[in-house]
Amino acid sequence: MPLQQEIIHKTDLHSAHNYHPLPLVLSRGKGIWVWDVDGNKYLDCLSAYSAVNQGHCHPKIISALTEQAGKLTLTSRAFHNDQMGDFLEKLCAMAEMEMALPMNTGAEAVETAIKAVRKWGYEVKGVPDNQAEIIFFEGNFHGRTVTTVSASSEEDYKHHFGPFTPGFRIVPYGDAAALEAAITDNTVAIIMEPIQGEAGINVPPEGYLAATRKICRDNDVLMVMDEIQTGLGRTGKLFCYQHEDHAKPDMLIVGKALSGGAYPVSAVISSREILRVFTPGIHGSTYGGNPLGAAVGLAALEVIEEEKLADRSRLLGDYLMRKLEAIPTNKVADIRGKGLFIGIELHKEVGLARPYCEALMDRGILCKETHDYVIRLAPPLVIEMEQIDWLAEQIAEVLQDEG
Ligand SMILES: *Cc1c(COP(=O)(O)O)cnc(C)c1O
Repeated sequence: MPLQQEIIHKTDLHSAHNYHPLPLVLSRGKGIWVWDVDGNKYLDCLSAYSAVNQGHCHPKIISALTEQAGKLTLTSRAFHNDQMGDFLEKLCAMAEMEMALPMNTGAEAVETAIKAVRKWGYEVKGVPDNQAEIIFFEGNFHGRTVTTVSASSEEDYKHHFGPFTPGFRIVPYGDAAALEAAITDNTVAIIMEPIQGEAGINVPPEGYLAATRKICRDNDVLMVMDEIQTGLGRTGKLFCYQHEDHAKPDMLIVGKALSGGAYPVSAVISSREILRVFTPGIHGSTYGGNPLGAAVGLAALEVIEEEKLADRSRLLGDYLMRKLEAIPTNKVADIRGKGLFIGIELHKEVGLARPYCEALMDRGILCKETHDYVIRLAPPLVIEMEQIDWLAEQIAEVLQDEG
C-alpha cells in the first residue's frame, strides 16, 4: 500500500471520525507551503482556520518556542512566571485594552467571556441571579463545548448533545433592528463575529457593527467580539471590527493566530472595570498563561507587527479579490470577504464546493469548503504577490473547467 494510504488507513482505524479531511498526509511546513509524506508541495489556503497567519514554522516563533521549552514550560498560576506579564502587556497594547485573561483553546476563551459577562451582569448591572441573557447570532461559530454549541443555530453541531446551556437567545445576523428588539432588562451581553467565518465568510452590511455598538451602549449591554478567526491581521486590519469607525467592543476574544500555530494560546481582553469581576479562585486553567505559551504568543504578536501582516492582508487581499472577480465563469454566485479572508460561493446548480477543493488539491493548492457551497481562501499572510498570481490562475482554470 502506498505510504499516504497506509497512514490514512491507520488513522481511520484509531481516530474518531469527527472530521472529513482531504485525502493527503502532511509532514512538513514552511511559510505558505506544506509538503506531504511523498514530498509533494502545496500552497496552504486554509492556514489551519487562520491559526497560521504568520506562516508555518515561522523562525522567530519556533525559536521562542524551543528556547523557552528548555527553560520553563509550566508553573500553573499558583506561582508567577517571568513570561506572562510581557505577553499580556503586548496583547493589551495592541488591542488598546487594559487587561487580559489567558486560556488555551478558542472555545475555552469563549466560555471565559460568557462567565465574565454573566458575573458582570449580576454584580455590576444588577440582573437578578440566574436570569442573565446573552444574545448570539444565526450562523455563529464559537467552538464545540456544550455551552458554545448551546448558543449555535446549526443543527449538526447540536444533535443529540443536549441538554443545552440555557440563557441564550439567537437573532438574525446583520439586522440591527432585530437585535434591539431582542434586548431585555436581563440582557448582559451580545457575542458576535465581525465576519462569520464558519458560516461561509458572511460579511455583515456596512455600518452594522457601529449600529450594534450604539445599541449595546444605549442599553447597558456588553459588546463582545469573537475575533478568534478574524483577528490578528486576517481581514486586513489588526482586528476586523476596525473596518468600521465607532465599533470598538467592550471585550475581545482571540486565539488561533495568537500563537501562529505553534501552541494553543487564547485570551479574553477587556477593561479593568469588567475583568475585575474575576477574583482569586473563581476561574482558572492549569495551562492558561503558561510560560511556554506566553513566550510563543509574544513572538507571534511581534511577527504580526514587524511584518505588517494586517497591511499585507489588505493589499494582497484586494489584489486577489480583483483577480477572482475577473474570472470568466458562470459557476460563481458570489465572491466576498475582507483582506485575505475570501469566500467563493458556487451556484447551487453547480454542485458542492468539495470536488473543486479536490481539483485544487491536484493542482497543489489546499483549501477547505465551508457550508457546502463556499470555497474559503485564507492563505498565510506572508504570501507574495507572484504566489497570488499563481493561485488565481489555478482557481480560474478549475472554475472554467467543465466537470
Ligand atoms: C475556531 C473558532 C473558535 C473555537 O476555537 P478552538 O480553538 O477550535 O476551540 C471560536 N470562535 C471562532 C470565531 C472560531 O473561528
